[in-house]
Amino acid sequence: MEHDADVAIVGCGPVGVMAALRCSQRGLRVIALDNETEVYPLPRAIGMDDEIQDLFARAGLIESLRDHSTPGRGGDFVDASGERVVGVDVSPDFVGVLGHPPMIMFDQPSVETFLRDAAVDAGVDLRLGVRATGLVANDLGVTLELDDGTSLRSRWLIGADGAKSTVRDLIGVDLIDQEFDQNWLVVDTTLLDPGLALPPLARQHCDPKRVVTFVPGHETRRRWEFQLKPDETRDQALEPGFLDALLADWGRPDQLQIDRVAAYRFHGVVADRFSSGPIFLAGDAAHQMPPFNGQGMCSGMRDAENLAWKLAAVAHGSAGPQLLDSYDEERRPHAAQQVAQSVDAGKLIDAIAHDGERALESGYGRRKFPRLEHGVVESGDHRLIGLPLPAPVDGSFTIGTSWTVLTGPGATTELPELWTALGAAAHPIAASAFGDTFDPTTTVIVRPDRIVAAVTTDMSATTSRLAPLIVGESRVEY
Ligand SMILES: Cc1cc2nc3c(=O)[nH]c(=O)nc-3n(C[C@H](O)[C@H](O)[C@H](O)COP(=O)(O)OP(=O)(O)OC[C@H]3O[C@@H](n4cnc5c(N)ncnc54)[C@H](O)[C@@H]3O)c2cc1C
Repeated sequence: MEHDADVAIVGCGPVGVMAALRCSQRGLRVIALDNETEVYPLPRAIGMDDEIQDLFARAGLIESLRDHSTPGRGGDFVDASGERVVGVDVSPDFVGVLGHPPMIMFDQPSVETFLRDAAVDAGVDLRLGVRATGLVANDLGVTLELDDGTSLRSRWLIGADGAKSTVRDLIGVDLIDQEFDQNWLVVDTTLLDPGLALPPLARQHCDPKRVVTFVPGHETRRRWEFQLKPDETRDQALEPGFLDALLADWGRPDQLQIDRVAAYRFHGVVADRFSSGPIFLAGDAAHQMPPFNGQGMCSGMRDAENLAWKLAAVAHGSAGPQLLDSYDEERRPHAAQQVAQSVDAGKLIDAIAHDGERALESGYGRRKFPRLEHGVVESGDHRLIGLPLPAPVDGSFTIGTSWTVLTGPGATTELPELWTALGAAAHPIAASAFGDTFDPTTTVIVRPDRIVAAVTTDMSATTSRLAPLIVGESRVEY
């Protein structure tokens, strides 16, 4: 089969475009298509964590991102009287271990716009106003049928076509419900009166009369999310007068300009498979979660980067095709944990509204931020395995697009041949490069997506374990 592209991507939302950009930056031929002709004009995602900011940095887009975002100031849960039950304050100039603010508040349409421009500049063939309607897949690749009567052929296909994914339906993947289902009214406003007293941080108002989320966005943007009661329908919530009564507690019409109002069903679902042969699901097509932790798009961006480096490695022949099996093994449990964490956050808001501080004993909100526990990572017990590598405190190196091997001062600098064959960048590091995070006798293996794959004192054994996963059993000679 002759391919029109290495990768075809259905859906040019933030996840599809990030996948397109990162595949193209790694030398793949990419066609990305969307049935809409313009970026969706209204913001949905508003918060972005530091791991995804770092992805923008690695893609060469950190300056643009900074131009369209504001560092987040933390978040808290308060009771009906406004007393803080639990929370964290973050100063505007604080940067976390990855070298970025832990969370930024950003403007989704502007970010999607510069992301699309960057994808086109990187060589992505962006086709707008065309809908994918059907597909046929076999060992040779995928033929995608389009609503303009044409078709295109690619070696792989990514379905990043959102919550109502056509690709997901066409390959017969089901969504598993994570048992959270609530109706909320989301209101985006522009602050007209800088003197209006609003919290500087994201706040969950756990008031039994009505639970409300407030999020201060980029520049003058302010968002409220009002939980609807069981007897209030989404249609009722959109009727004139309903919102005015809710917003009146926060500000007058001359202080807040309403930009958009939307009623959402917040729920948690995870696809039962993230891949089927040469087809992969990413972003909302694969998982959806309530927005309380700001992780829906961020999880999708993790999918995008996870796929991009693996597809490129297989296309360029440095990895075997079995590497692509690790996409589902890695991303599905990780995304499922983030859905569970976001569902927990929603349950914690309700629990605090009803039980106050006692709700903190409920266990909601105690889950740790997930790490990759399966796939191309060692099952060692170092706390950073499966998580992004922190930035070195001495700034001695930056992570590129290939594998990175960091050798501590007491570790052997002789690397097994596999790492040279993979084009790994080798950096000797000072004992203090990461504070006391790593024992100086260890070697740290970092994947092309910045995830720590191994922290080891026995490179030979670790290489033997990782090589079959990367290059395949038949090619293991390392
Ligand atoms: C109120 C709210 C707040 C949120 N807050 C946050 C937050 O703070 N942080 C965060 O990380 N996430 C947040 N999210 C989640 C985030 O908005 C989504 O996870 C993200 O936008 C999904 O991106 P996507 O690219 O996967 O899908 P989408 O943005 O839905 O893009 C899918 C694209 O596919 C196209 N398409 C669909 N079908 C076809 C077809 N057959 N052929 C061609 N094109 C097709 C569509 O036109 C669309 O452009 C929030 C969501 C909501 C609703």
